[in-house]
Amino acid sequence: MIDSSNNNRKGGRNTRLAHAGHSPREYHGFVNPPVVHASTVLFPDTETMLGRTQKYLYATHGTPTTDALADVLSELEGAAGTILVPSGLAAISVPLLAFCKAGDHALIVDSCYDPTRQFCDFMLTRLGVDVEYFDPVIGAGIAELLKPNTSVVLTESPGSNTFEIMDIPAICKAAHKTDAVVMIDNTWATPLLFKPLDFGVDISIHALTKYPSGHADLVLGSVSANERTWKQLHDTQSALGTCAAPDDCYLVFRGLKTMNVRLQHHEKSALKIAHWLKSRPEVVRVLHPALPDCPGHELWKRDFTGSSGLFAFVLDGISREEARPFLDALELIGLGYSWGGFESLVTLPDLSDRTIALAPQEGAVIRLQIGLEDIEDIIVDLERGFAALAKNN
Ligand SMILES: *Cc1c(COP(=O)(O)O)cnc(C)c1O
Repeated sequence: MIDSSNNNRKGGRNTRLAHAGHSPREYHGFVNPPVVHASTVLFPDTETMLGRTQKYLYATHGTPTTDALADVLSELEGAAGTILVPSGLAAISVPLLAFCKAGDHALIVDSCYDPTRQFCDFMLTRLGVDVEYFDPVIGAGIAELLKPNTSVVLTESPGSNTFEIMDIPAICKAAHKTDAVVMIDNTWATPLLFKPLDFGVDISIHALTKYPSGHADLVLGSVSANERTWKQLHDTQSALGTCAAPDDCYLVFRGLKTMNVRLQHHEKSALKIAHWLKSRPEVVRVLHPALPDCPGHELWKRDFTGSSGLFAFVLDGISREEARPFLDALELIGLGYSWGGFESLVTLPDLSDRTIALAPQEGAVIRLQIGLEDIEDIIVDLERGFAALAKNN
Protein backbone atom coordinates (compact mmCIF):
# COMPACT_ATOMS: atom_id res chain seq x y z
CA MET A 1 0.00 0.00 0.00
CA ILE A 2 1.25 3.48 -0.78
CA ASP A 3 1.65 5.56 2.33
CA SER A 4 1.06 9.11 1.17
CA SER A 5 1.46 10.73 4.56
CA ASN A 6 3.87 13.64 4.72
CA ASN A 7 6.55 11.75 6.58
CA ASN A 8 6.95 9.13 3.91
CA ARG A 9 7.43 11.00 0.68
CA LYS A 10 10.91 9.91 -0.24
CA GLY A 11 11.66 8.32 -3.55
CA GLY A 12 12.61 9.42 -7.03
CA ARG A 13 11.85 12.69 -8.73
CA ASN A 14 8.50 11.74 -10.20
CA THR A 15 7.41 10.05 -6.98
CA ARG A 16 8.19 13.12 -4.93
CA LEU A 17 6.49 15.44 -7.40
CA ALA A 18 3.44 13.20 -7.27
CA HIS A 19 3.18 12.99 -3.48
CA ALA A 20 4.98 15.85 -1.74
CA GLY A 21 3.22 18.79 -0.13
CA HIS A 22 -0.13 17.32 0.79
CA SER A 23 -1.35 14.54 3.07
CA PRO A 24 -4.77 13.45 1.80
CA ARG A 25 -5.78 12.31 5.33
CA GLU A 26 -5.48 15.90 6.54
CA TYR A 27 -8.24 16.93 4.15
CA HIS A 28 -10.91 14.22 4.21
CA GLY A 29 -8.89 11.91 1.94
CA PHE A 30 -9.03 14.15 -1.12
CA VAL A 31 -5.86 13.61 -3.11
CA ASN A 32 -5.32 17.33 -3.71
CA PRO A 33 -5.13 20.20 -1.22
CA PRO A 34 -8.06 22.63 -0.96
CA VAL A 35 -7.94 26.02 -2.69
CA VAL A 36 -8.53 28.27 0.29
CA HIS A 37 -9.88 31.72 -0.59
CA ALA A 38 -9.38 33.72 2.54
CA SER A 39 -8.60 36.83 4.47
CA THR A 40 -9.92 36.31 8.03
CA VAL A 41 -9.20 33.27 10.15
CA LEU A 42 -11.37 32.93 13.28
CA PHE A 43 -10.09 32.10 16.76
CA PRO A 44 -12.11 30.21 19.35
CA ASP A 45 -11.13 32.50 22.28
CA THR A 46 -8.87 35.38 23.29
CA GLU A 47 -6.22 33.03 24.61
CA THR A 48 -5.70 31.60 21.11
CA MET A 49 -6.15 34.97 19.45
CA LEU A 50 -3.75 36.96 21.59
CA GLY A 51 -1.33 34.09 22.15
CA ARG A 52 -1.22 33.42 18.39
CA THR A 53 -1.16 29.72 19.16
CA GLN A 54 -3.26 28.63 16.17
CA LYS A 55 -1.57 27.31 13.00
CA TYR A 56 -3.21 29.89 10.73
CA LEU A 57 -3.69 33.52 11.81
CA TYR A 58 -4.45 35.57 8.72
CA ALA A 59 -4.29 34.85 5.00
CA THR A 60 -1.18 36.97 4.33
CA HIS A 61 0.76 34.61 6.62
CA GLY A 62 -0.20 31.47 4.73
CA THR A 63 -3.05 29.06 4.09
CA PRO A 64 -3.30 25.29 3.54
CA THR A 65 -3.00 26.01 -0.20
CA THR A 66 0.16 28.10 0.00
CA ASP A 67 1.64 25.67 2.53
CA ALA A 68 1.10 22.73 0.19
CA LEU A 69 3.06 24.45 -2.59
CA ALA A 70 5.75 25.88 -0.30
CA ASP A 71 6.27 22.44 1.25
CA VAL A 72 6.87 20.72 -2.11
CA LEU A 73 9.36 23.41 -3.09
CA SER A 74 11.19 23.24 0.26
CA GLU A 75 11.44 19.52 -0.12
CA LEU A 76 12.74 19.68 -3.69
CA GLU A 77 15.27 22.39 -2.81
CA GLY A 78 16.26 20.83 0.53
CA ALA A 79 15.35 24.17 2.15
CA ALA A 80 14.46 25.22 5.70
CA GLY A 81 11.52 27.16 4.28
CA THR A 82 9.99 28.71 1.16
CA ILE A 83 8.01 31.91 0.65
CA LEU A 84 5.62 32.42 -2.26
CA VAL A 85 5.43 35.83 -3.88
CA PRO A 86 3.27 37.33 -6.65
CA SER A 87 5.82 37.04 -9.49
CA GLY A 88 9.26 35.76 -10.37
CA LEU A 89 10.49 39.32 -10.24
CA ALA A 90 9.19 39.68 -6.66
CA ALA A 91 11.14 36.50 -5.88
CA ILE A 92 14.24 38.54 -6.74
CA SER A 93 13.28 41.87 -5.16
CA VAL A 94 12.02 40.48 -1.82
CA PRO A 95 15.22 38.59 -0.84
CA LEU A 96 17.36 41.53 -2.02
CA LEU A 97 15.33 43.79 0.28
CA ALA A 98 15.68 41.20 3.04
CA PHE A 99 19.48 41.13 2.98
CA CYS A 100 20.58 44.58 1.74
CA LYS A 101 20.57 47.76 3.78
CA ALA A 102 21.95 51.27 3.26
CA GLY A 103 25.72 51.25 3.14
CA ASP A 104 25.96 47.64 1.91
CA HIS A 105 27.68 46.45 -1.24
CA ALA A 106 25.83 44.00 -3.51
CA LEU A 107 27.49 41.88 -6.21
CA ILE A 108 25.12 41.06 -9.07
CA VAL A 109 26.00 38.83 -12.01
CA ASP A 110 26.16 40.85 -15.24
CA SER A 111 24.20 38.19 -17.19
CA CYS A 112 21.20 38.53 -14.87
CA TYR A 113 17.57 38.63 -15.94
CA ASP A 114 17.09 42.16 -17.28
CA PRO A 115 14.41 43.30 -14.78
CA THR A 116 16.78 42.18 -11.98
CA ARG A 117 19.25 44.78 -13.24
CA GLN A 118 16.48 47.37 -13.38
CA PHE A 119 15.49 46.62 -9.77
CA CYS A 120 19.10 46.92 -8.64
CA ASP A 121 19.79 50.13 -10.58
CA PHE A 122 16.47 51.78 -9.84
CA MET A 123 15.65 50.62 -6.30
CA LEU A 124 18.71 49.25 -4.53
CA THR A 125 20.92 52.19 -5.42
CA ARG A 126 18.17 54.58 -4.29
CA LEU A 127 18.13 52.80 -0.93
CA GLY A 128 21.86 53.43 -0.54
CA VAL A 129 23.21 50.08 -1.68
CA ASP A 130 26.40 50.07 -3.76
CA VAL A 131 25.60 47.78 -6.71
CA GLU A 132 28.44 46.19 -8.65
CA TYR A 133 28.13 43.76 -11.58
CA PHE A 134 30.49 40.85 -12.08
CA ASP A 135 31.51 38.45 -14.83
CA PRO A 136 29.46 35.21 -14.87
CA VAL A 137 32.64 33.17 -15.48
CA ILE A 138 34.50 34.75 -12.55
CA GLY A 139 34.47 31.62 -10.32
CA ALA A 140 36.83 31.84 -7.33
CA GLY A 141 38.00 35.23 -8.67
CA ILE A 142 35.00 36.76 -6.95
CA ALA A 143 37.18 36.87 -3.82
CA GLU A 144 38.81 40.02 -5.23
CA LEU A 145 35.47 41.83 -5.47
CA LEU A 146 34.16 40.93 -2.02
CA LYS A 147 34.34 43.76 0.51
CA PRO A 148 33.72 43.72 4.26
CA ASN A 149 30.30 45.31 3.58
CA THR A 150 29.29 42.92 0.76
CA SER A 151 25.98 41.58 2.04
CA VAL A 152 24.70 39.77 -1.07
CA VAL A 153 26.08 37.93 -4.09
CA LEU A 154 23.31 37.35 -6.61
CA THR A 155 24.01 34.66 -9.20
CA GLU A 156 22.02 33.25 -12.09
CA SER A 157 23.17 30.07 -13.79
CA PRO A 158 22.90 29.76 -16.70
CA GLY A 159 22.86 33.50 -17.38
CA SER A 160 19.85 35.07 -19.07
CA ASN A 161 20.10 35.07 -22.88
CA THR A 162 23.81 34.10 -23.02
CA PHE A 163 23.63 30.94 -20.86
CA GLU A 164 27.00 31.04 -19.06
CA ILE A 165 27.19 28.40 -16.32
CA MET A 166 28.72 29.76 -13.11
CA ASP A 167 31.08 28.00 -10.71
CA ILE A 168 28.61 28.18 -7.83
CA PRO A 169 30.61 26.16 -5.24
CA ALA A 170 33.67 28.37 -5.78
CA ILE A 171 31.59 31.54 -5.43
CA CYS A 172 29.91 30.28 -2.26
CA LYS A 173 33.23 29.33 -0.72
CA ALA A 174 34.65 32.81 -1.26
CA ALA A 175 31.47 34.67 -0.30
CA HIS A 176 30.97 32.78 2.92
CA LYS A 177 34.44 33.78 4.13
CA THR A 178 33.09 37.31 4.40
CA ASP A 179 29.58 36.21 5.47
CA ALA A 180 27.82 37.43 2.33
CA VAL A 181 24.51 35.76 1.50
CA VAL A 182 24.65 33.92 -1.84
CA MET A 183 21.45 33.89 -3.89
CA ILE A 184 20.73 32.19 -7.18
CA ASP A 185 18.01 32.71 -9.73
CA ASN A 186 17.50 28.98 -10.39
CA THR A 187 14.57 29.36 -12.79
CA TRP A 188 16.21 27.71 -15.83
CA ALA A 189 17.08 24.52 -13.98
CA THR A 190 13.93 24.23 -11.87
CA PRO A 191 14.58 22.49 -8.53
CA LEU A 192 15.06 19.26 -10.49
CA LEU A 193 18.14 19.90 -12.64
CA PHE A 194 20.21 21.83 -10.10
CA LYS A 195 19.91 21.86 -6.30
CA PRO A 196 21.75 25.04 -5.28
CA LEU A 197 21.51 24.63 -1.50
CA ASP A 198 23.50 21.39 -1.80
CA PHE A 199 26.29 23.44 -3.44
CA GLY A 200 26.44 26.07 -0.69
CA VAL A 201 23.91 28.63 -1.93
CA ASP A 202 21.80 30.26 0.83
CA ILE A 203 18.75 31.36 -1.17
CA SER A 204 17.22 29.78 -4.29
CA ILE A 205 14.83 31.83 -6.42
CA HIS A 206 12.27 30.59 -8.95
CA ALA A 207 9.92 32.22 -11.41
CA LEU A 208 7.19 29.58 -10.94
CA THR A 209 5.65 31.28 -13.97
CA LYS A 210 7.95 29.12 -16.11
CA TYR A 211 8.19 25.29 -15.95
CA PRO A 212 6.47 24.77 -12.57
CA SER A 213 3.30 26.38 -13.96
CA GLY A 214 4.04 25.09 -17.44
CA HIS A 215 0.95 26.50 -19.09
CA ALA A 216 1.60 30.21 -19.67
CA ASP A 217 -1.44 31.17 -17.62
CA LEU A 218 -0.07 32.83 -14.48
CA VAL A 219 2.84 34.62 -12.81
CA LEU A 220 4.19 33.51 -9.43
CA GLY A 221 7.53 33.29 -7.64
CA SER A 222 9.18 31.38 -4.82
CA VAL A 223 12.20 31.88 -2.61
CA SER A 224 13.66 28.94 -0.71
CA ALA A 225 16.13 29.54 2.11
CA ASN A 226 18.56 27.51 4.20
CA GLU A 227 18.56 27.54 8.03
CA ARG A 228 20.93 30.50 8.14
CA THR A 229 18.72 32.83 6.10
CA TRP A 230 15.18 31.52 6.60
CA LYS A 231 14.09 33.72 9.52
CA GLN A 232 15.22 36.97 7.92
CA LEU A 233 13.56 36.03 4.63
CA HIS A 234 10.32 34.98 6.31
CA ASP A 235 10.16 38.12 8.47
CA THR A 236 10.74 40.33 5.42
CA GLN A 237 7.90 38.64 3.56
CA SER A 238 5.63 39.20 6.57
CA ALA A 239 6.67 42.86 6.75
CA LEU A 240 6.13 43.49 3.05
CA GLY A 241 2.85 41.61 2.65
CA THR A 242 3.94 40.22 -0.71
CA CYS A 243 1.81 37.09 -0.48
CA ALA A 244 0.58 34.91 -3.33
CA ALA A 245 -2.98 34.26 -4.51
CA PRO A 246 -4.61 30.86 -3.87
CA ASP A 247 -5.67 29.95 -7.41
CA ASP A 248 -2.19 30.61 -8.80
CA CYS A 249 -0.60 28.56 -6.01
CA TYR A 250 -2.96 25.71 -6.74
CA LEU A 251 -2.22 25.79 -10.47
CA VAL A 252 1.51 25.64 -9.80
CA PHE A 253 1.00 22.80 -7.30
CA ARG A 254 -0.87 20.99 -10.06
CA GLY A 255 1.74 21.89 -12.70
CA LEU A 256 4.50 20.37 -10.58
CA LYS A 257 2.93 16.93 -10.87
CA THR A 258 3.86 16.76 -14.55
CA MET A 259 6.94 18.97 -14.49
CA ASN A 260 9.55 16.25 -14.77
CA VAL A 261 7.70 14.54 -17.61
CA ARG A 262 7.35 17.85 -19.44
CA LEU A 263 10.95 18.83 -18.79
CA GLN A 264 12.21 15.60 -20.33
CA HIS A 265 10.31 16.40 -23.52
CA HIS A 266 11.55 20.02 -23.53
CA GLU A 267 15.12 18.81 -22.98
CA LYS A 268 15.05 16.24 -25.76
CA SER A 269 13.49 18.59 -28.33
CA ALA A 270 15.70 21.54 -27.40
CA LEU A 271 18.86 19.43 -27.72
CA LYS A 272 17.80 18.14 -31.14
CA ILE A 273 17.09 21.65 -32.34
CA ALA A 274 20.32 23.00 -30.83
CA HIS A 275 22.31 20.37 -32.78
CA TRP A 276 20.34 21.11 -35.93
CA LEU A 277 21.07 24.85 -35.55
CA LYS A 278 24.76 24.08 -35.11
CA SER A 279 24.77 22.55 -38.59
CA ARG A 280 23.23 25.66 -40.18
CA PRO A 281 25.65 27.94 -42.07
CA GLU A 282 23.85 31.08 -40.77
CA VAL A 283 24.63 30.15 -37.15
CA VAL A 284 28.05 30.85 -35.67
CA ARG A 285 27.41 29.56 -32.13
CA VAL A 286 24.72 27.81 -30.15
CA LEU A 287 24.51 28.91 -26.53
CA HIS A 288 23.15 25.84 -24.78
CA PRO A 289 24.79 24.60 -21.54
CA ALA A 290 24.80 21.00 -22.77
CA LEU A 291 26.88 21.97 -25.83
CA PRO A 292 30.66 22.49 -25.59
CA ASP A 293 30.40 25.98 -27.18
CA CYS A 294 28.69 27.29 -24.08
CA PRO A 295 30.88 29.01 -21.45
CA GLY A 296 30.90 26.82 -18.35
CA HIS A 297 29.83 23.65 -20.17
CA GLU A 298 32.20 21.56 -17.99
CA LEU A 299 30.63 23.06 -14.85
CA TRP A 300 27.20 22.15 -16.18
CA LYS A 301 28.36 18.55 -16.58
CA ARG A 302 29.73 18.58 -13.03
CA ASP A 303 26.78 20.22 -11.22
CA PHE A 304 23.56 19.78 -13.23
CA THR A 305 21.54 16.65 -13.93
CA GLY A 306 20.08 17.82 -17.22
CA SER A 307 19.03 20.78 -19.34
CA SER A 308 15.73 22.50 -19.98
CA GLY A 309 14.22 23.90 -23.15
CA LEU A 310 15.55 27.46 -23.25
CA PHE A 311 18.72 28.37 -25.15
CA ALA A 312 20.01 30.82 -27.75
CA PHE A 313 22.02 30.93 -30.93
CA VAL A 314 24.22 33.58 -32.49
CA LEU A 315 23.80 34.56 -36.13
CA ASP A 316 26.92 34.89 -38.25
CA GLY A 317 27.48 38.51 -39.28
CA ILE A 318 23.80 39.48 -39.02
CA SER A 319 22.91 42.43 -36.82
CA ARG A 320 19.93 42.59 -34.49
CA GLU A 321 18.14 44.87 -36.96
CA GLU A 322 18.90 42.50 -39.87
CA ALA A 323 17.63 39.53 -37.83
CA ARG A 324 14.09 40.86 -37.59
CA PRO A 325 12.79 39.14 -40.77
CA PHE A 326 13.72 35.79 -39.17
CA LEU A 327 11.27 36.40 -36.33
CA ASP A 328 8.62 37.97 -38.51
CA ALA A 329 8.53 34.91 -40.78
CA LEU A 330 7.74 32.47 -37.96
CA GLU A 331 4.22 31.06 -37.95
CA LEU A 332 4.30 28.47 -35.16
CA ILE A 333 6.90 29.87 -32.78
CA GLY A 334 5.40 32.85 -30.98
CA LEU A 335 7.10 36.22 -30.55
CA GLY A 336 6.76 36.67 -26.83
CA TYR A 337 8.44 37.05 -23.46
CA SER A 338 8.48 34.45 -20.75
CA TRP A 339 9.05 30.72 -21.33
CA GLY A 340 8.58 27.34 -19.68
CA GLY A 341 5.08 26.84 -21.04
CA PHE A 342 3.82 24.31 -23.56
CA GLU A 343 4.43 26.57 -26.55
CA SER A 344 7.59 27.50 -28.44
CA LEU A 345 8.64 31.15 -28.20
CA VAL A 346 11.33 33.41 -29.62
CA THR A 347 12.90 36.69 -28.52
CA LEU A 348 15.57 38.99 -29.93
CA PRO A 349 17.22 40.12 -26.69
CA ASP A 350 18.80 43.53 -26.29
CA LEU A 351 22.09 42.99 -24.50
CA SER A 352 23.24 46.60 -24.64
CA ASP A 353 22.95 47.07 -20.84
CA ARG A 354 25.72 44.57 -20.22
CA THR A 355 28.92 46.03 -18.86
CA ILE A 356 31.06 42.88 -18.55
CA ALA A 357 29.39 39.84 -20.12
CA LEU A 358 29.04 41.75 -23.37
CA ALA A 359 26.82 40.74 -26.28
CA PRO A 360 28.48 38.29 -28.72
CA GLN A 361 30.42 40.24 -31.35
CA GLU A 362 29.66 37.90 -34.28
CA GLY A 363 26.00 38.83 -34.68
CA ALA A 364 22.53 38.93 -33.19
CA VAL A 365 21.45 36.57 -30.42
CA ILE A 366 18.13 34.81 -30.90
CA ARG A 367 16.62 33.10 -27.86
CA LEU A 368 14.36 30.09 -28.26
CA GLN A 369 12.05 28.34 -25.83
CA ILE A 370 11.31 24.94 -27.30
CA GLY A 371 7.79 23.92 -26.35
CA LEU A 372 5.95 20.61 -26.42
CA GLU A 373 4.99 20.75 -30.12
CA ASP A 374 6.24 18.11 -32.55
CA ILE A 375 9.84 18.80 -33.36
CA GLU A 376 9.41 18.44 -37.16
CA ASP A 377 6.93 21.32 -37.10
CA ILE A 378 9.28 23.52 -35.10
CA ILE A 379 12.10 22.86 -37.57
CA VAL A 380 9.88 23.69 -40.55
CA ASP A 381 9.11 27.00 -38.85
CA LEU A 382 12.79 27.77 -38.19
CA GLU A 383 13.53 26.99 -41.84
CA ARG A 384 10.96 29.65 -42.73
CA GLY A 385 12.93 32.07 -40.59
CA PHE A 386 16.24 31.25 -42.28
CA ALA A 387 14.63 31.57 -45.74
CA ALA A 388 13.40 35.05 -44.81
CA LEU A 389 16.89 35.99 -43.57
CA ALA A 390 18.43 34.92 -46.90
CA LYS A 391 15.82 36.87 -48.85
CA ASN A 392 16.28 40.07 -46.84
CA ASN A 393 20.03 40.21 -46.24
C1 LIG B 1 10.86 35.20 -16.22
C2 LIG B 1 12.01 35.26 -15.29
C3 LIG B 1 11.88 35.88 -14.06
C4 LIG B 1 10.66 36.66 -13.65
O1 LIG B 1 9.50 35.93 -13.60
P1 LIG B 1 8.07 36.67 -13.72
O2 LIG B 1 7.15 35.74 -13.04
O3 LIG B 1 7.82 36.81 -15.18
O4 LIG B 1 8.19 37.98 -13.00
C5 LIG B 1 12.97 35.85 -13.22
N1 LIG B 1 14.12 35.24 -13.57
C6 LIG B 1 14.27 34.64 -14.75
C7 LIG B 1 15.56 34.00 -15.08
C8 LIG B 1 13.23 34.64 -15.66
O5 LIG B 1 13.40 34.09 -16.86
